[in-house]
Amino acid sequence: MGFLSLGSPLSWSETKQHADHVRKHGILQFIHIFNKLKDRENDCLKWGDEVEYTLIKFDHENKKVYNNLKAKEVLDVLQLEESNNPSTIKTAWRPEYAGYMVEGTPGHPLGGCMRHFNMIEANMKLRREEILQNLKESGETVLSIVTFPRLGCPNFTYPNFKPTPGKGISSSLFFPDQAVFQGHPRFRTLTQNIRERRGSKVAINVPIFKDVKTPSPFTEKFPDVEGEGAKAAKLDHIYLDAMGFGMGMSCLQMTFQACSINEARYLYDQLAAVTPIVMALSAATPILRGFLSDLDCRWCVIAGSVDDRTPEEMGIKPLQENRFVIPKSRYDSISTYLSPEGNKYNDIDLVHDQEICQQLMDAGIDEQLARHYAHLFIRDPLVLFQEHNIQSTNWQTMRFKPPPPNSNIGWRVEFRPTEVQLTDFENAALVTFIVLLTRVILSFDLNLLIPLSKVDENMITAQKRDAARKGMFYFRKTLKKCPAAAKGEIPNSNADTGEEFELMSIDTIINGKVGEFPGLIPLIESYLGNVDVDIDTRCTISQYLTFIQRKASGELLTTAQWMRKFVALHPDYKQDSVVSETICYDLMNTFDGIARGELGAPELFGKPTSKTSDVLTKKCLEIKEEMAKIEPAK
Ligand code: ADP
Ligand code: MG
Ligand code: MG
Ligand code: MG
Repeated sequence: MGFLSLGSPLSWSETKQHADHVRKHGILQFIHIFNKLKDRENDCLKWGDEVEYTLIKFDHENKKVYNNLKAKEVLDVLQLEESNNPSTIKTAWRPEYAGYMVEGTPGHPLGGCMRHFNMIEANMKLRREEILQNLKESGETVLSIVTFPRLGCPNFTYPNFKPTPGKGISSSLFFPDQAVFQGHPRFRTLTQNIRERRGSKVAINVPIFKDVKTPSPFTEKFPDVEGEGAKAAKLDHIYLDAMGFGMGMSCLQMTFQACSINEARYLYDQLAAVTPIVMALSAATPILRGFLSDLDCRWCVIAGSVDDRTPEEMGIKPLQENRFVIPKSRYDSISTYLSPEGNKYNDIDLVHDQEICQQLMDAGIDEQLARHYAHLFIRDPLVLFQEHNIQSTNWQTMRFKPPPPNSNIGWRVEFRPTEVQLTDFENAALVTFIVLLTRVILSFDLNLLIPLSKVDENMITAQKRDAARKGMFYFRKTLKKCPAAAKGEIPNSNADTGEEFELMSIDTIINGKVGEFPGLIPLIESYLGNVDVDIDTRCTISQYLTFIQRKASGELLTTAQWMRKFVALHPDYKQDSVVSETICYDLMNTFDGIARGELGAPELFGKPTSKTSDVLTKKCLEIKEEMAKIEPAK
């Protein structure tokens, strides 16, 4: 494209002038890829996870804990191996938004053979060890938490930096610019250009959890001269004003390679229907900026944190300069299904650029897919770097990933709603569950689709406090062509009358209900009964599925619920929704012990049902050989 890769990035007013050019180029690039690769077939299943980690610094003497702004230093070492020996790496490392974050993936995707289920957790363990090897100063550690409970409170970073209200790239009352990753200009430029495009700081208001001694109404005094904070902050809400509050959060993502574009489109839709369910199960975000919030998940914060819509686009002012009123942020749930099965459930008004849609259709792309891209392209490009495309700043619950140019990678879909868990065991369990779900969907030819507007309602439900136990979610009653059900082994619901979907608990959705609904795990079990799996692998899988079942039944707590309980029982907690520095320190310290396997957490994942650490260490060694056998991705 001829744009800068590194170097001085363009401001929003400069970027804006290139927006149409970049859009045109992006469209042509997609048309080219589509026409070249639309008939590509027979790619095998591959999958890879992404875990985002938070670097932490303890001051044990003074019982303080900070976000450690050391990502660049750590990454410089972690990425060396990849630049020297890209084809044999066991782990791969990427920068993330914040200077305290790193993202790790397996060196090469897994897939194809069942034995690879043994390698997920071992590889995650390896990643954690690799980070720890680069954190040798006293009190340093790494945690896979969604967000630091006191992110945005005074002195939350190490080294300590002060926010610069009204100045700098975030202009935040709480989040210092130095906490943004400094190793690549992309993140700073995004921050600045989102703020400039929308014409104000982002404003996120999350309802506070009202405990017995929480002031009512709850309100805060902000130290900003112009009173922007006071204006944007809502009563009884926790107010957040910077991209870092959302993009500085961590999640667990999974990418799957499909055998063809059509399979990718089918999987994209099917998985979209389970995004809210998995988000609720993985809920891990009950504390924001030192306060207990009334939500358990990160989603609305991250959506708000990159919401670059102008007042016109939000529908607050009549359209003059902008072209569309846009109901969602760039970071939000998907707005259209992509498969032919999905089309009839597309009941959301899909804002899209009709000219682009026509151009794509003229180039041979079917209307449904054309509308999806014409929808993505309503957004302006926010930063101009060579490696960028419009997808890199459209962050939705699912992502449809066309094969990258000049690679042997096939059509892929990415599953993005999951909140990251504390331990490798829990993260591996979630990955295993979703990978197996894709197999079940494909082999049993399942149909999980419900109207997309209902998926959106589920997204709201999923974020609520204790949704995993108390939430009721729209889910499809009959999952079509289920061979086991047809044989009478798994009861299916009587769905011939009325709506195709109904409200169900997560317990019913995951574990099933006799005579009413088969349940996703029984379906997975029935699938496993039909494929060849060695005993070792079967045991690995079983402990993960058991964990998911117990989470879904409410027997185990979600991470969010576990954290709430920890705070409520802490001697320093005054029933006023405040998570003090002491509570935060004790919570992070306990988390560190749990993540290292030194402390148990029976309510979180039961008695460590995972393999003994000996076996895992052996697996880490084996992984070397296995990884070497997998064909490199590039
Ligand atoms: P992004 O951040 O854009 O989602 P990443 O490259 O960080 O992409 O991560 C993508 C994930 O996809 C990694 O876990 C990687 O191992 C995995 N992956 C890479 N190639 C393939 C492939 N051919 N099929 C499936 N997954 C893949
Ligand atoms: Mg990534
Ligand atoms: Mg990431
Ligand atoms: Mg990703």
